[in-house]
Amino acid sequence: MLLITISCKKEPTSTNTQINNPFEKKIDSLLKIMTLEEKIGQMNQYSGFWDATGPIPKKGNAKNKYQHLKNGWVGAMLNVRSVKNVKALQKIAVEETRLGIPLLFGYDVIHGYKTITPIPIAESASWDLKAIENSARVAATEASAAGINWTFAPMVDISRDPRWGRVMEGAGEDPFLGSKIATARIKGFQGKNLSDKNTIAACAKHFAGYGFVSAGKEYNSVDIGSSTLHNIILPPFKASLDAGVKTFMNSFNEINGTPVTGNKYLQRGILKGKWKFNGFVVSDWASIRELISWGIARDKNEAAKIAATAGSDMDMEGHVYIKELAKLVTEGIIKERIIDDAVQRILRVKFELGLFDNPYKYCDTENEKRNINSKKHHQIALDIAKKSIVLLKNEKNILPLKKTGQKIALIGPLASEKNSPLGSWRLAADDNSAISILEGLQKYSGNFIKHEKGVDLIVGKTSFTKEVKINKSNKIGFAKAIAIAKKSDVVVIVLGEHGYQSGEGRSRTKLDLPGLQQELLEEIHKVNKNIVLVLQNGRPLTIEWASRHIPAIIEGWQLGSQTGNAIAQVLYGDYNPSGKLPMTFPRNVGQIPIYYNYKNTGRPKNVGNNVFWSHYIDSKNTPLYPFGYGLSYTTFKYDNFKISSTNITKKETLEVSIEVSNTGNFDGKEVVQLYLRDIFASTTRPIKELKGFELVHLKKGETKTITFKLSKKHLGFYNEKGDFVLETGKFKVFVGSNSLAKLEKEFILTN
Ligand code: BGC
Repeated sequence: MLLITISCKKEPTSTNTQINNPFEKKIDSLLKIMTLEEKIGQMNQYSGFWDATGPIPKKGNAKNKYQHLKNGWVGAMLNVRSVKNVKALQKIAVEETRLGIPLLFGYDVIHGYKTITPIPIAESASWDLKAIENSARVAATEASAAGINWTFAPMVDISRDPRWGRVMEGAGEDPFLGSKIATARIKGFQGKNLSDKNTIAACAKHFAGYGFVSAGKEYNSVDIGSSTLHNIILPPFKASLDAGVKTFMNSFNEINGTPVTGNKYLQRGILKGKWKFNGFVVSDWASIRELISWGIARDKNEAAKIAATAGSDMDMEGHVYIKELAKLVTEGIIKERIIDDAVQRILRVKFELGLFDNPYKYCDTENEKRNINSKKHHQIALDIAKKSIVLLKNEKNILPLKKTGQKIALIGPLASEKNSPLGSWRLAADDNSAISILEGLQKYSGNFIKHEKGVDLIVGKTSFTKEVKINKSNKIGFAKAIAIAKKSDVVVIVLGEHGYQSGEGRSRTKLDLPGLQQELLEEIHKVNKNIVLVLQNGRPLTIEWASRHIPAIIEGWQLGSQTGNAIAQVLYGDYNPSGKLPMTFPRNVGQIPIYYNYKNTGRPKNVGNNVFWSHYIDSKNTPLYPFGYGLSYTTFKYDNFKISSTNITKKETLEVSIEVSNTGNFDGKEVVQLYLRDIFASTTRPIKELKGFELVHLKKGETKTITFKLSKKHLGFYNEKGDFVLETGKFKVFVGSNSLAKLEKEFILTN
């Protein structure tokens, strides 16, 4: 064994530029002494293997992996958790291999490690970038305390299709909001300095196009034009790069005929070429091997060739690079410099994390005990959970609930759930560790609460890897629920999707309340109209009936460990809801894809009772709830809308200001949103695009002036080739409380 001890200086982590990187010389000298097999080993990532006594594999695959690790043929692991297991594996890499190169330990720390924060789409509904950053900081602090140094997050895939189960893991439909959120999350994970003990490398995934899988069907093909690619899909990835993200993950889908894992245009052309990314790209789970199923590679050998040439640097659990790359290089089919480039990138991230200085940096059991599930982390989780809640409807001021003297019937299969609110990507969390809504409401003792499930949502047990079985026939609990509803002043009914009904592999063709929940809701409504519907779900649902008949609706997503406390504080008015939808809620599945930044068409309106215009004959065009929508217990008035000029040059900045007043009876927060429309351009442009937002806190009766600045980066767009262009002409700017924003002004951009 030749243990390389190379001392490292601290390294600023905020840019992806190679210039002045103090590690480059060390990387080069290390590369020079590596054998081809050792280099390829760095490009190989295995999922964990251990038994009760630690990482001591006994048979089959595990035995192989163990031997490979000892040979120095493994660069990274995933799914290993606890300091004990990480330390044991790291020790083999560092002490038993010839070069002693430390391992990376990756894990899906998607929305928390043990302390679970709201699912990402929920957090995005807060539009609160600081709170989102804090939440990612909690995740990084706990994961790093458990030995992990690399998270496979954030998922920055834009999607317009809620049939796709993974919308729960993203920031919704808008590239501007998505870019800001990606930046906040990367800041949270990677902190100020990657060499700190409680920061971990982030991974922008899935590069690119996964959110546009055809018909929302998981792992499907993607057929999109270059305008959508450059203007909608890529901006959050570019923002991630600018935020200093250390790794990218490619994806399972193909795009316009080429599987992403083998896509040279995306990985070498854009990411590493045009954008000059100097970290590394990891494949998605076995996606290199899947090039064979896609029919692009005849066998593993060809799959390895295509993926490595295209710029996939690390093979996650595909077992393809380790078997095939050496042969490809010795036979001269691929050049060794492709391997060298990938290895340099991987080593760079290891240096930046400080692993060569101290490979056991993340292996401190005291830190593990102190940080995981700490009180402080649960406070932060509660804070973001409250901020994620969206008030969709509140008629007759049914909310907030009174704190005393009300008889409340708490109904629904999700009301007492402690597992489902954790969502599906909570791999390290303890089962049933969420505070249920029932538990949350019980803390307010002034009211009399009765609880009945009414119906089961699912049958039997489910898990991350198991299909969910929905209860379609057992209505035995209806009678008891109806009985308590009849005798109560208010019914709080908690319905939606089980946590394992959204996430990877969970595409749906219907977006209604699954199972017998809709029927239960209608039966309860027959006996008591004073209903507050609390939704618990991982994506937009089609709740048209409820939106017409139920007086109060709360979008409560899956809010993680602190679910019950957050919902109770909102229901009782201790927290005034301020969330806004990051994704359009359709009326029906037939409207999908539905999104606010659509193009106008040549026939956008009905002129003279004519059928020949862009519409459906059986549904309205409008969504049920638009992007950016959300109410408060108070009301806000928008006034005095001004722009600094009606004519600006390309070098100038336009100032847009608006007075916002709190005209209701509660203190509250409003997300003031600014949208832009390029009226005439060389290509069709969306009818509106979000270009600014500000979260403003206003006391009762208070007024504040909000000022936005618009400059060329807001006014241009990407052309067919992916080049940014700025065209002169007329624009409209809109301000309001959601994407229907009606206040508008026009201005002209000149040279
Ligand atoms: C998912 C990735 C994830 C990886 C590792 C894949 O199935 O698509 O997002 O990071 O597994 O668990």
